[in-house]
Formats: sequence, structure tokens, C-alpha cells
Amino acid sequence: MQPRRLRQPIVVVLGHVDAGKTSLLDRIRGTAVQVREAGGITQHIGASFIPADTLRAICGPLLTQFRFDVTVPGLLFIDTPGHEAFSNLRIRGGSAADIAVLVVDATKGLEPQSHESLEILRSRKVPFLIALNKVDLLSGWTPHPGSPLLESIKSQPKVIVDRLDEAIYRVVGQLSQIGFRSEAFYRVRDFTKEVAIVPVSARTGEGVPELLAILVGLAQQFMRRRLEVAEGPGRGIVIEVKEEPGLGYTANAILIDGELRVGDEVALGTRSGAKVTRIRALLMPKPLDEMRDPRDRFTPVESVSAAAGVKILAPGLEDVVPGTPMYVVAPGRAEELMNAISSEVRSAIRESERMGVVVKTDALGSLEAIVSMMERRGIPIRIADIGPVTKRDVIEASVVREKDKYLGVVLGFNVRPLPEAQEEADARGVRIILDKVIYSLVEGYERWVQEEKAAEA
Ligand code: GDP
Repeated sequence: MQPRRLRQPIVVVLGHVDAGKTSLLDRIRGTAVQVREAGGITQHIGASFIPADTLRAICGPLLTQFRFDVTVPGLLFIDTPGHEAFSNLRIRGGSAADIAVLVVDATKGLEPQSHESLEILRSRKVPFLIALNKVDLLSGWTPHPGSPLLESIKSQPKVIVDRLDEAIYRVVGQLSQIGFRSEAFYRVRDFTKEVAIVPVSARTGEGVPELLAILVGLAQQFMRRRLEVAEGPGRGIVIEVKEEPGLGYTANAILIDGELRVGDEVALGTRSGAKVTRIRALLMPKPLDEMRDPRDRFTPVESVSAAAGVKILAPGLEDVVPGTPMYVVAPGRAEELMNAISSEVRSAIRESERMGVVVKTDALGSLEAIVSMMERRGIPIRIADIGPVTKRDVIEASVVREKDKYLGVVLGFNVRPLPEAQEEADARGVRIILDKVIYSLVEGYERWVQEEKAAEA
């Protein structure tokens, strides 16, 4: 039997706000762009692809040292870091993200959102490494541009190694308290037993080759089976629905299996279930140097193969919900696929008679993430649904408020209240709390409860 094609692993970056997620992603992309002769980097929609040759050029001697070659076709980094993007990369019983990079600020150790990230990584069973970022801030640290971090660690005077060790072993200790075994990457023998902690600096670029080499090693050790591309119709996830000038509503999707072609019929999730539409065009980003007009950002392609980030043009995308699956419809299977999608959407939406808060979000992934975060914190929920805050949401909250004033609120994640909902809220004195970060939305609610209680006392 012919060996199956391996696709590139999908990598997400998570971590506490200000740990350096965005800076590290920028630095990784920048490092890859620099090795142009090896292939550099390919921009996808919502993701950046670093091909195997670029990884070899960046990691060079490290691969010899670690004794493995790059056998995956490359790494596909999701461009948006954080919980929100991770949550939307959802598949039943797990995550479409194959590996995660948890960025931790070396000067701070694990912070609240690092713990949240660790919890979701554990529950979705996603292997990860820790990028211990900002090592340039450790006192006494001097950057060694261009030299692999491992060598620079060895050549440092003892005192500096101690500072780095201090930062690493604080995290090792914090992780062990919550049941993770971890180790400085240069002592890791087996990725399946220990989480590797890789010291990096997004500012100087040090540690980026080590980080990439370990991601490749991790992927190749953990997930050969998972990365084998299934033959047959494509399968993916909608991560964003966006109105583009001159194009109308488009869906950005990550294809995680199979192939997607212009003309394919695809089943997609909506608030009320699912729909089937036909793909009119598939768009990829145009290389920056070929762009003449900023509106002329995309280049049409006939097909894409997993894993890929692609923009889809098709009729009826306006009510498609991000975080829902996308299946290419094989003959005779439309109904079965639509039922599968509808049941996923329905199982995420809650509506009950009990006292609890009202939650509205823009995507299925964030809805699930917020609901599970609130459940862990013991905050009851009356309604959890997708879409803007409506007048009915406000009325529900005000009914709750008469019985329990600390639960009579509406929480909106990445959504806005409809004008009549805002009027109703003003008239009834119902608070609508809005945020674009999952974690701060829940914190915003808890802070509001504290304030209300303080005002009473
Ligand atoms: P995010 O919120 O996790 O995406 O963090 P950002 O990438 O926005 O970084 C937060 C702040 O930390 C910014 O001011 C960055 O310049 C700074 N920062 C990020 N990485 C490093 C690093 O490696 N070294 C230093 N000294 N500062 C960094």
C-alpha cells in the first residue's frame, strides 16, 4: 500500500495577555521570511505556512543534534493567537489544532490565562510546549544574535545560567502543582513524558530555531497517524465570516482534511442548523510584492489541499457561524452531514428556566469556551446563544434580576446589542457587559458583582 500523504501540523499560540504571543508569532514569521532561498514563508488566509526546507534552513545543526529530519511538509501557524482562535478550531471531542505553543513571560511565570490555556489544552488533549519568552529581560542576559540559544546558554557565565534556570524551574514547579511534568528543553529526552520549556526572546529572536525544531519533533513523535490525509471529500472549520469590499460575505476556513475545489457543494453551520451551498471561488492571499492596490489582496485558486487556510466565496454565507464544521458534500450525504452539523450547533446552545445569566457570542467556539469557564466558576446560565444581544435577552435578564440581582445581566462576546435591546436595557436598568476577550468578559462580570455588593454594603 502506498504511504499516505502527511499534511502539515496546525499550530496555535496561546498565553496570558502581554506574554508576547503576537510578538513571538511576528518573530517566527520574520525569521522564516529571511530564508527566502529555502522557500521562506507562504501566506494563507488566517494562517502562515513555513515549509520543511525553510525549517531545515532555520534549525540546521539542531536537527543533527536532535537526530531527526523534518518529515512533515512544514508547519501551519494560525495567525491569530489566543483562546478565541483556539476555541473556534473545534472538532468533536478535541481540537483541530495539532500542537500548541503556550507563551509564558519568563519574568512572571504562569499567570491566570496560562492556567486557563493549560486547562483547555488538557481537556482537548492537545500536545504543547512552553515558550518561555522575554529571556532578554533576565538580568545579566546578553543576546547572542545568530547563535543558537543552546550554545549561548552553555557559554554564559554561571550567574546568568542560574537566572535562566530560576525562571525555568519556577515554571517547572508551577506546572508540577497542576499535574504536568516539564523540563528545560535541553534536558528533555522524550516529549511524551515531559513538556519542553524553550527559552525564547521575541525581541532578539533567540530560541526561535529551538522552538521550531521542537515543534517538528513533537509533531513527528506524537501524531503521524493524525497527520495522514484521508482520501475523499474535504473537511474543515469556518473560523471567520467577513464582508469584503466588492466580494460580499466570505467565509475564512481552515481545511483540515482532504481537498476543496471550486464547484464543490459544502455543508455549513448556521444559527438555526445547517445549509448547503456551492463554492463559487476559493481565494488565497496575493504575495505582498505583487499587490498593486490594497483592495486587490486575493488570488483565485481552483483547489486547495489540507492543511490550508482559504477564503470561500459562495451564496448564503452571511448567517454561517464561525466555529462550525464545513464538509464537502459527497453524493447522497447532504442530509446526514447537515444533521451532524445541526446537532453540534444545538448542543452548544442553552436555554433554561433556571436563574442565571444571559450569554451571547459571535461564534460556536467562544460560546463553548465561555460556558465551560462559567461552569467551572459556578456561575449559572439561563441562555447561551449565538447572535447579537436582542430585546428578548434583556427582558429575560430583567426577569432574572427580580429574583437574583447578581444574575440579571447580559454578557456579550464580540457582539453588539441591537438598538432596541439597548433601549430596553436602559429602560429596565439591565446591565449589558461586552468584551472581545473571553477571559476579561467573565472577569468583567465578576467585577460587576463585587461592585454591586460593595455599593450595597
Ligand atoms: P500578547 O498580548 O501576548 O500578544 O503580547 P505582545 O506580543 O503584544 O507583547 C506584549 C509586550 O511585551 C509588548 O510591549 C512587547 O514589545 C513586549 N515583548 C514581547 N516579547 C518580548 C521579548 O521577548 N522581550 C521583551 N523585552 N519584550 C517583549
